Amino acid sequence: MGNDYIVRATAADSQIRAFAITSRDMVEEAHSAHGTSPVITAALGRLLSGAAMMGVMMKGEKDLLTVQVQCSGPAKGLTVTADSGGHVKGFPMAADVELPLNEKGKLDVGGALGAGVLRVIKDMGLKEPYVGQTVLQTGEIAEDLTYYFATSEQIPSAVGLGVLVDRDRSVKQAGGFIIQLMPFTSDEVIDRLEKKITELASVTEMLEEGNTPEQILEIILGEFGLEITDRIEAGFCCDCSKERVSRAIATLSRKDLDDIINEGEAIEVKCQFCNQAYHFDVDELKEMRK
Ligand SMILES: [Zn+2]
Repeated sequence: MGNDYIVRATAADSQIRAFAITSRDMVEEAHSAHGTSPVITAALGRLLSGAAMMGVMMKGEKDLLTVQVQCSGPAKGLTVTADSGGHVKGFPMAADVELPLNEKGKLDVGGALGAGVLRVIKDMGLKEPYVGQTVLQTGEIAEDLTYYFATSEQIPSAVGLGVLVDRDRSVKQAGGFIIQLMPFTSDEVIDRLEKKITELASVTEMLEEGNTPEQILEIILGEFGLEITDRIEAGFCCDCSKERVSRAIATLSRKDLDDIINEGEAIEVKCQFCNQAYHFDVDELKEMRK
């Protein structure tokens, strides 16, 4: 993995819990794997950064989080998964969306997504996975996750996410934070924190100033008795294999598989999460046909 990591913290005598991430390397890896345009790099990068922090909120080693956006804008959708150990992967439905900057001069992630839904699926080894679904608020991802936490999990939260794309289309900065209030948080703390958050610089500005995740949390929560409790390495990490990809071929109809075999040529199947190509020759396809 690269240099990305997540910190976990508490503040105000555990009335507040917080996470922050630096995620440039994972977002750059997603950008290079999928050849994303700047606005899709930003959209996917924000979702990867948010999901990585949401992943480490889960307790079990094998717990798996999936965050999906389905939308009517040109981006069509995004899928990201994260485990509880800082590993994330993800892919866009459309990698090459080009849009003019929005009225603030920023990459128009909200315009690329348009209207849609955000779905969070948590597989925690129970019979049924937890599924929460909310309507996209702005399509800018951070506001959508904030709304998801408030309505689906009933946890008042502040989410900040930022991806800065360089002139050469590589990722210059990426990161974010999630601040959450516990049910017993006093009104005095809530009021002070709300004021603090409205005065904050954007995540990309804080990262451009050289702030680490620890320092970003210090800026937001320093006056609330911030206590960093944990540091978790994070990164883009795909666990695909030829065997796993072959399951996609196995879902083809017998006729489709016969057609491929009759053409007599090897085929290439790509992992949708990381774009790694796997080759299957005719003999392997015949074997699968059985
Ligand atoms: Zn893969």
